[in-house]
Amino acid sequence: MTDTADAVDRTPSDESGVELDGISVAFDGVTALDDISLSVAEGEFFTLVGPSGCGKTTTLRAIAGFEPPTEGTIRIGGRSVEGVPPEERDIGIVFQNYALFPNMTVRENVGYGLRFRDSPGDQSPAARIDELLDLVDMEGMGDRDPTELSGGQQQRVALARALAPGPEVLLLDEPLSALDAQLRERLRVTVRDIQQELGITTVYVTHDQAEALAISDRVAVMSDGRLEQVGTPEAIYREPASRFVATFIGDNNLFEGTVTDTAPPRATIDGQPFLLPAGSEVSAGESVTLTVRPEAIELGDGDATLTVTVDNVEFLGDAYRLHCDWQGQSILVKTSAWTQTDDAVELGIDRDDVRIILDSD
Ligand code: ATP
Repeated sequence: MTDTADAVDRTPSDESGVELDGISVAFDGVTALDDISLSVAEGEFFTLVGPSGCGKTTTLRAIAGFEPPTEGTIRIGGRSVEGVPPEERDIGIVFQNYALFPNMTVRENVGYGLRFRDSPGDQSPAARIDELLDLVDMEGMGDRDPTELSGGQQQRVALARALAPGPEVLLLDEPLSALDAQLRERLRVTVRDIQQELGITTVYVTHDQAEALAISDRVAVMSDGRLEQVGTPEAIYREPASRFVATFIGDNNLFEGTVTDTAPPRATIDGQPFLLPAGSEVSAGESVTLTVRPEAIELGDGDATLTVTVDNVEFLGDAYRLHCDWQGQSILVKTSAWTQTDDAVELGIDRDDVRIILDSD
């Protein structure tokens, strides 16, 4: 696992909000989480992303106290929570499926958490509920039943209910995945705005890599119960540390070959030389995978020039996506230049747009 140097430092604090130290979880002897260590700073929006079954929910459930780790330590606010039941962990949770109480009004749902905990400050419960409904843009809807709300409104209420007692940490498990695409994009901005306004330490789970990149301070990419890479969205996208991250996060082109020169650094892929970024630390004879994002490839000459045939052209609105064939390998290009199917074109790749993944990564 690589903890990528932050391309943009947006970590709000050095204080630890949530810390996982060597966490493993097994179900009936089958490992679901394998030695997970990560640190979420106080006030940080931290997202766990990865394919189905990689262990995102199990990680969140371990933090919440629903899944006791078989190994390792979890700290919230610097204190170990071993043996502390979920209701005493000072966390608020929002699940995918709303989980509102159907027999309670919106106000009663939001106020539910205040039955067991005092409102923050000296606020009355009623004032706290009003404040929360205002925060999630649901003022005036307090007397409705959950059945009278849209999916997006129900999730706003679920968020208000989780935040009502003023928890130290907010845990969100795929809170938007039951909503349609447009609403999901709007509501993710709302969630981010509210998190920023409150400055609450947040751990967010999603399988949607675009959502993870859009709203997080930092992202942890998970695969098969392990962390693949932790970093800012920019670092994860621009400097993927493994083949898995390079292909799971966004579209990418992968070229497998061998380093043939070190000054200037160069790799040869199927007989075609690719110049590597100056200063690349590679050794001649080393097997490498080069990655190049579709939007970094230009039509025309470059440090490496590939002659390809255009198999397919998709119009995306803001660009064209070309599916090209280069010596039997498919290459994806995102460009504003117009071409048509069966055209033979030159693709230029700038050495600074090449990322190197050593085949041991
Ligand atoms: P999804 O996006 O599908 O929710 P996930 O990344 O959240 O997936 P988890 O739900 O954490 O993944 O599951 C991780 C692994 O642990 C999977 O292989 C899953 O089948 C297994 N698992 C999770 N909960 C249990 C359980 N209660 N009993 C047995 N196995 C479980």
